[in-house]
Amino acid sequence: MWRGVDPTNIDETLPPVLAAVELVVTAAQTQTATLAGVFMSAFALSETGVDDPFSVDVSLFAGFTQDGRPVADVLALSSVSMKLASGRGASIPTIAAAGLARTVRTVRTEVISGARSAQRDMMSDDRVSGFYRVSSGDPCLACAGLAGIKSSTGDAFPVHGACRCTAEPIMAGVPDRFAPPDGKAIMNAQDPAQQKALWGDKAAAINDGSVSLDDMVTLKEAPSWGPMLFESPLPTIAA
Ligand SMILES: [Zn+2]
Repeated sequence: MWRGVDPTNIDETLPPVLAAVELVVTAAQTQTATLAGVFMSAFALSETGVDDPFSVDVSLFAGFTQDGRPVADVLALSSVSMKLASGRGASIPTIAAAGLARTVRTVRTEVISGARSAQRDMMSDDRVSGFYRVSSGDPCLACAGLAGIKSSTGDAFPVHGACRCTAEPIMAGVPDRFAPPDGKAIMNAQDPAQQKALWGDKAAAINDGSVSLDDMVTLKEAPSWGPMLFESPLPTIAA
C-alpha cells in the first residue's frame, strides 16, 4: 500500500493510501470490538455461571479514536509528519519513512483502542464492579508501573500511543481470586539480559531500588479525554 506514496507529491498520493488504511483500521476495530464482547461474555459466564452475553454496538467504536474523533482525522496527520521531514530537508526515503512510521503508530493505537472503548462501554454494566489493568509481558515501564492495579468502573484508563494494556473486569458479587501480575512480577519473569534489552538501564535502577516502578509513571492531562501516560526518563528521577 505504502509504495503508492510519492514523497515529492504528498498532497495527491498520500490521501488515497490513507483512505485504504482507514478501511483496514475500521475493519480491524470491528473485529477487536466484537472480540471484546466475546471476551466479556465468556468472562462473565466463567465468573458467575450465568450465561447472559454482553451486547456491544460495534458501530459506535469502529472508525473512531478513543476520544471519539474519526480515525481519518488522525491518519491525516501522517501528512504533517512527512511535510515536517520535507521541511527539514530530509531525503526522499526519510520523508517516506516518517510518514509510514506515523501511520503504523496510528494503526497500532487505534486497532486496540476499538477493543478498549468497546470494553469500557460494556464495563459500565452493573454486573461489573471494577477492573484490573493487564499489561503485555514486555510493557514499557510506565505500563509496568500501573499493571495489576485495581480500579473502579468509570475510572480513567490512561494509555500511550500503541499501548497494549487491556482491562480484566471484576464481576460484582464474585470474589476476585486471581489478580493479574504487577509490574515487579512482569519484570521478574524476564532474565537480566532480557530486562536489559527491554528496559535498558532503568531495569537495573529499579532492581537496585534507586527508583521505583511508580516513579516510571508520568501522567499528563490531555484536554480531550483525560490523562495520557508517559514513561518517565531516568535522569529526571535520579535528579
Ligand atoms: Zn506502555
